[in-house]
Amino acid sequence: MTEMTTRIDVHNPADGRLVGSVEDESQDSVASKASVLRAAQPEWEELGAKGRARWLFELQNWLLDNSAHIADVLQSETGKPRAEAELEVPAWVDLINYFGRNAEKFLHDDQPSPHGLLGWTKKLTTAYRPYPLVGVITPWNFPLAMAGLDVPPALVAGAAVLLKPSEVTPLSALELARGWAEIGAPEVFAIATGRGETGAAVVDAVDYVQFTGSTRTGQAVARQCVDQLKPYSLELGGKDPALVLADADINRAVHGIAWGGLMNAGQVCVSVERVYVEAPVHDEFVAKLTQRVGELRQGQDGKDFRFDIGPMANMTQRDIVVRHVAEATAAGARVTIGGTPTGVGTFFEPTVLVDVDQSMSCIQEETFGPTIPVIKVADEDEAVRLANDSQYGLSASVWTGDADRGRRIARRLDVGAVNINDAIANLFSFALPMGGWKQSGTGARLGGATGVRKYCRQTAITEPRLPMLIDEPMWFPYSRAR
Ligand code: NAD
Repeated sequence: MTEMTTRIDVHNPADGRLVGSVEDESQDSVASKASVLRAAQPEWEELGAKGRARWLFELQNWLLDNSAHIADVLQSETGKPRAEAELEVPAWVDLINYFGRNAEKFLHDDQPSPHGLLGWTKKLTTAYRPYPLVGVITPWNFPLAMAGLDVPPALVAGAAVLLKPSEVTPLSALELARGWAEIGAPEVFAIATGRGETGAAVVDAVDYVQFTGSTRTGQAVARQCVDQLKPYSLELGGKDPALVLADADINRAVHGIAWGGLMNAGQVCVSVERVYVEAPVHDEFVAKLTQRVGELRQGQDGKDFRFDIGPMANMTQRDIVVRHVAEATAAGARVTIGGTPTGVGTFFEPTVLVDVDQSMSCIQEETFGPTIPVIKVADEDEAVRLANDSQYGLSASVWTGDADRGRRIARRLDVGAVNINDAIANLFSFALPMGGWKQSGTGARLGGATGVRKYCRQTAITEPRLPMLIDEPMWFPYSRAR
């Protein structure tokens, strides 16, 4: 009897159009992909960092040659404005460039210094050996870029990679697999498509799990990993605060926060999701922000770069935004612009909320939509206190005309990254370690040397450094026989 395969339809959320379908892969299908990857991994590891990077540079060229088509596919499954759809291939190109060029340096044996008294006669080395198979599970908000933060570093580390994209946006990820096959690279990279059950099968099949997605799913993934004593890292939700101080360049803050809150229709883990403004500049900030948001163009633009804001990924997501705005206004908040669903599909108007209170759901829960709630604060201390009053701790932004003050406040915020006079910039700064505090994530960070080394196990090697006599003070006998 042949096994029935079920398929998952993929729709463009801007107009509901069916744009493709993918297999809903079973546990067996995932297991058989994993065994092909495992068989190819030892030879991949043998290639060394430079040899592996060469294949990634081949993929980089393929991506550049196919970037327009990939942007078409990505735009069809997300409904994003063209400008945002076209961001994701360059992100991969840059990530491959960064990790490919630096892999050898990041994976070089470490000689720790200093070391303790007992070890002073030894030569001490840390060597890095990859996990054979890494599972990367990604969300739908940046179908390619989110995978780009992990797939290239894991591959250059020497691991094989099984990528499980979101069932909402799996089509552009399949383009990556097509590229990998077309350049004739070793079979160390594959994609498994499907829903949560497929994701759970990936967790079962691999040696290390990198999960990016919601906090609730991250908890389920962590539980499964703990049961199997499997290492994992989680990049989860956020509720990023922006702190606008009275000495800030208000025009810059308005422009930056409008983009930081509404880019990708607010569906960014590091979106600005709440704004604390010092009282003296509050009214000016709100008036200018409202005007700025009113100038934004919303719609589905095909290839002609006409629009700034696209739809929400799906109705479930839009319903959260509708609820947050309704609960806020019922409790006394005011909408200065936007505030309702619009058009066909899943669009929600870009929205500014004022007279907002810290206890409202639009401040306490992740919204992941095109809303910017604003709270007036008395001073810097109140801004910092309210910013830290959150279950999340992904990133934050501080807007001030005093760089020293900005750096000082950065060190008071309970978050994994702070942008000074900028928003979302930390997402592109992958030379830095990236990751959230509190409910926003745990485990080894993305970015920099850590971003590659996290995909390796460490071997601590000791060997004598000095002549043997001095070097063996602890061996038997402990004293001369009497
Ligand atoms: P999600 O948690 O619903 O899904 C993420 C992925 O996990 C999908 O591929 C899904 O199929 C898979 N999955 C679902 N159940 C699973 C299970 N039991 N085991 C294994 N895999 C499973 O998240 P989403 O709705 O796709 O994405 C939005 C969320 O992602 C937001 O909360 C956002 O903040 C977060 N996010 C975080 C970052 C970050 O770097 N911190 C980046 C982007 C998005």
